[in-house]
Amino acid sequence: MRSPRPRLAWLLALLLGIYGCERPAAPVEAEVYAMGTLVHFSLYGASPEAAAEAIRAAEVWLQAFGRDGWAFGDGELAHLNAALARGECRRVSADLAAQIRLARAVSGASEGRFDPAVGPLVRLWGFDRAPRDPDRPFPQPDAIAALLPLPPISAVTVSAAGEVCGPRGLFIDLGGIGKGYAVDHVVADLARRGIPAALVNAGGNLKSWGEPPGRGWRIGIRDPYRPGVMATLALAAGEAVSTSGDYERMFDHDGTRYHHILDPRTGYPVAGLHAVTVVHADAALADAASTALFVAGPEQWRPVAAALGIAQALVVQADGTVAMTPAMAGRVRFVPGWAPPHAAGD
Ligand code: ADP
Ligand code: MG
Repeated sequence: MRSPRPRLAWLLALLLGIYGCERPAAPVEAEVYAMGTLVHFSLYGASPEAAAEAIRAAEVWLQAFGRDGWAFGDGELAHLNAALARGECRRVSADLAAQIRLARAVSGASEGRFDPAVGPLVRLWGFDRAPRDPDRPFPQPDAIAALLPLPPISAVTVSAAGEVCGPRGLFIDLGGIGKGYAVDHVVADLARRGIPAALVNAGGNLKSWGEPPGRGWRIGIRDPYRPGVMATLALAAGEAVSTSGDYERMFDHDGTRYHHILDPRTGYPVAGLHAVTVVHADAALADAASTALFVAGPEQWRPVAAALGIAQALVVQADGTVAMTPAMAGRVRFVPGWAPPHAAGD
């Protein structure tokens, strides 16, 4: 007969084990370089082995996705662009077809403010490389004018089987939507693997899954003026946040700042806003929408947000004032004392 002692020890261990599972545990954190940016992972509640395996799988997928989605490299999108330049159609993967379909929809709803057909302009401005080569010549106005009007992404067709056709001269750059699409994919994969809670952040495009034990998510919105955070936001499970700004990829020329979000109609970087943050359940839509609202500028971002089905948006205008939709204003908490530099007097 077994003595009661080991049984008690077993029971205690079981209770402690259960109790241990319910205590807020430190997340497994990891960083992966893909799509020209750092992708940060925080995974909660999974075993170290399951977390490591999920992150390894995500890294493999992200790196292939980054190669295939980079218009200026040698992957799938580059091959599609080469085919379009030859006047040919090309069958693409389900992921690429999905991005192009969503990009077409966002382009239509934003009346062309978001348009991945900006590819030739992105190259002319030197934003086809990150970091930008400082020796690249400043674009000549007539070289910009020669590219306009751009053939719009609406001229591209994507068949149900994923065959893409479009006019010659159309060159697709998915830099404004790919990181959000990737975050949706990676988070869905973490969920499929049974990871209880996670936050994935790809260079300002983040999405949550589940909730960390014992507390909710609270994320920071970057200060567009200086390193640090301007405000925080409590995030529900499954929400995505995307920020587009003029402070990340830019250069100065003759005292003027030129950044990587271009107006497809004028061919020049868009002035008027410093940063746009949007919240939506779909990270790909949030990514494209933050770019679209940035192009829309201080006068037009509200109707463009409404047309895109974005109820939650925050913009930092060029004069430093912050404007928000009512739904966003209800949940953003500003860092005490935060002010734009000129208002703060520094
Ligand atoms: P980031 O890539 O820094 O997160 P965005 O999501 O706003 O910023 O995307 C900017 C990128 O999108 C640019 O680097 C360029 O590749 C592409 N792009 C620039 N202007 C536009 C535009 N008007 N519409 C769609 N894509 C754009
Ligand atoms: Mg974007």
